[in-house]
Amino acid sequence: MKRDQKVIVVGAGIMGSMIAAKLRDVGAEVTLLDAGFAGQATRASGGMLAPTSEARSIPSSWRVQAQVSLKLWQEWLQRFEKLGVDVGYIPGLGHAAMSMQEAQQHRTSGQWQQDHPDHPHGMAFFPEEGSVDPEQVLRALHLLCPVTPAEVTTLHVDERNVTLKTTAGSMQSDQVVLACGAWTSRFGVEVQARQGQALLLEGQHVDHALYKGRGYLVPRGGSTFVGATDIETWDVTPTRGARKTLLAYAHQHRPASVQSRVLDHKVGLRPYRSEPFVGPHPTLRNVLVATGHHRNGVLLAPVTAQVVTGLFMQASQGSYGAPVH
Ligand SMILES: Cc1cc2nc3c(=O)[nH]c(=O)nc-3n(C[C@H](O)[C@H](O)[C@H](O)COP(=O)(O)OP(=O)(O)OC[C@H]3O[C@@H](n4cnc5c(N)ncnc54)[C@H](O)[C@@H]3O)c2cc1C
Repeated sequence: MKRDQKVIVVGAGIMGSMIAAKLRDVGAEVTLLDAGFAGQATRASGGMLAPTSEARSIPSSWRVQAQVSLKLWQEWLQRFEKLGVDVGYIPGLGHAAMSMQEAQQHRTSGQWQQDHPDHPHGMAFFPEEGSVDPEQVLRALHLLCPVTPAEVTTLHVDERNVTLKTTAGSMQSDQVVLACGAWTSRFGVEVQARQGQALLLEGQHVDHALYKGRGYLVPRGGSTFVGATDIETWDVTPTRGARKTLLAYAHQHRPASVQSRVLDHKVGLRPYRSEPFVGPHPTLRNVLVATGHHRNGVLLAPVTAQVVTGLFMQASQGSYGAPVH
């Protein structure tokens, strides 16, 4: 690949930010743009890395990729540590059973803990899974590739390059990566918004991420993330109903949390498709797309960045001749 390939990555959620960092690694000249829309999914995310315990929400065609991505996460964690950013990684994830019937389903996966003091029906524990703080991950990624604030309004593709109209003026690039989360639908890719609300409660009420019943609790820097709702809407207003439901969930499963203040009420738009779209844009030449990761975008970001970088290098070689080593 030529080392002066210009690429513009649109969207600085976890997908675009990790892709941008990876493209810089291979020598591309990368500009990362973000419109700063309210409702970015990444900052509202639980940050769980759960390819086995979340397998039911991962399309079967992505389950192997999800396991690969979990392994790639270990490399990113080492890199973030070297950068000096603590991304709040906490290893281990538990999936507690709420009934004997659920226990039957869970006991074949993970390390089964029958006599758990907090979970009378037992808990499957996954030591290789875990959680990160997505806000800190973004902080680390933006040290590797800073964000330029700009909203892309239109794309125009011709024989030579891609022209983007943005709120910061017109820009040109050899290639573009659209990683605009749910908003990628503005650029001819079918993707829906699935709103998720979550709370951050004062005090750490769990030692590791825990699924139980209809929700989950994740430790985060001395506080506890309580997730989450899932509604098909573009609305990004936090609601009293969601707050009540999430607080009731936390109080039921961690009674000590009744004393805890709500530190934050998060709302994010998960980009939903029946399966993620990672590949060339259906109609626009030299435009790659990475969206639709729904409930597992944090987990799937490393493998997605790897795939997109591979496609970018292939396309660059096709257009610009032999690779430069
Ligand atoms: C409550 C909740 C809990 C979750 N928990 C988990 C979890 O535990 N584990 C997990 O793996 N995943 C989880 N997810 C899912 C995960 O957060 C998403 O799949 C992932 O963050 C999607 O990342 P993204 O970069 O594609 O989109 P986003 O994070 O939404 O980023 C898209 C970015 O594109 C920008 N943008 C859009 N249009 C334009 C434009 N025209 N020009 C410039 N910029 C633009 C936006 O401003 C935004 O910053 C959760 C999500 C939610 C909401």
